[in-house]
Amino acid sequence: MTIILPDLPYEKDALEPHISAKTLTFHHGKHHNAYVTNLNKLIEGTDLASETLENIIKKTVNNADKIGIFNNAAQVWNHTFYWQSMKPNGGGLPTDDIAEKINADFGGYDNFIEQLKNAGLTQFGSGWAWLVMKNNNLEIIKTSNADTPIAHGLKPLLTVDVWEHAYYLDYQNGRGSYLNAFFNNLVNWAFVNSNLV
Ligand code: MN
Repeated sequence: MTIILPDLPYEKDALEPHISAKTLTFHHGKHHNAYVTNLNKLIEGTDLASETLENIIKKTVNNADKIGIFNNAAQVWNHTFYWQSMKPNGGGLPTDDIAEKINADFGGYDNFIEQLKNAGLTQFGSGWAWLVMKNNNLEIIKTSNADTPIAHGLKPLLTVDVWEHAYYLDYQNGRGSYLNAFFNNLVNWAFVNSNLV
């Protein structure tokens, strides 16, 4: 199947002033789009051309000969998940089931958010910070470059992109300011809850 670039789930200016239309225009229209284009070129005419995006990721992880395919496929998947992890007027305290689970597993929101923010801050170089489910427990992890929890049997619930292209136009080197804006104003808790099911 041809891998398609999904539309953003909101208008390009919908996350302003926290993430600008300019950032989303480049991040979705150039970066995400390039991963889709590269992936389609790399799988064309191969056995992987008939696979789903998830299967391409699972079949190429830890395979040195397929690292280019893995990187592009994982970046396509991660970005689609990241767009859904945000919404206009989001962020702040979690709601419903995920709120209870965070209290149970982290002893409260403040401890949880400090750990998740720290994962984003301390990811050296490009990568992602994640809230995932592992053996029915919430865990916070970070991944380098394109790496993705679905390649390692983990169930992602929420992600934040900490590649510089995600924030440099709006915050320059201020990754912490971007992370504060993400957690205070953008997290889509309804999406996180939908991933718990
Ligand atoms: Mn990105």
